[in-house]
Amino acid sequence: MKIAILSDIHANLEAFERCEQFLGEIGDIEFTAILGDIVGYGADPVLCIDKAKEIAGVNIIGNHDAAVIGTSDITYFNMAARKAILWTRDQLNDEYCAFLKGLPYSESKYEILFTHGSPNDPKEWKYIFNWFDALDEFHGFDETVCFVGHSHVPGIFEESETIPHDAGPVQLDSAKKYIVNVGSIGQPRDGDPRLSFAVLDTTSRLLEIIRLEYDVEAARNKIIETGMPEYLGNRLLKGK
Ligand code: ZN
Repeated sequence: MKIAILSDIHANLEAFERCEQFLGEIGDIEFTAILGDIVGYGADPVLCIDKAKEIAGVNIIGNHDAAVIGTSDITYFNMAARKAILWTRDQLNDEYCAFLKGLPYSESKYEILFTHGSPNDPKEWKYIFNWFDALDEFHGFDETVCFVGHSHVPGIFEESETIPHDAGPVQLDSAKKYIVNVGSIGQPRDGDPRLSFAVLDTTSRLLEIIRLEYDVEAARNKIIETGMPEYLGNRLLKGK
């Protein structure tokens, strides 16, 4: 079965809709997981929560979702992120807050672990940017694959090496364990503004990190129109 794994939507409806359209074109995606940070930074938190509820079989909580509903401290967020959290709070009614409050920190399904930051301490919001970050985390799960987001930087890590993620599909070895960072739909930060997510065929064990262009200008302009810091819009153009 083919599954799609998305993370860090960050209320970017243009990117989310582009990804959804692409998944529709593939046609045989049977399950979608979203690894958190549906909201924060972007201009469409309500519509992105609606869409996440509609398309995902698993939704996980991210640190921005937790900050918006007050279960995570916002003092460690930088000024721009904090302004975005406060703006987002004003957009969400009780029903939307209750949805975010009900999300799990991690979930295991199809022998795969889904979490936002790290498998060991999902409530600590640790970042996995590279193999060194990943190395500490392999003992934190029994499944053969753990999907994460949070850093907004895609990567495929096996216990003994980093596997290139930008050279087409990767054949996973069923005897090995992997941590896969799917990157971000709504605010990529690896210098490539294209949205990022993963598709895994659980039968053939082929994994692909997919990058797509979307209407980044429209997403940027909407952020600026909300009155949130312009920097949050402009960074989308650079993927940083
Ligand atoms: Zn995020």
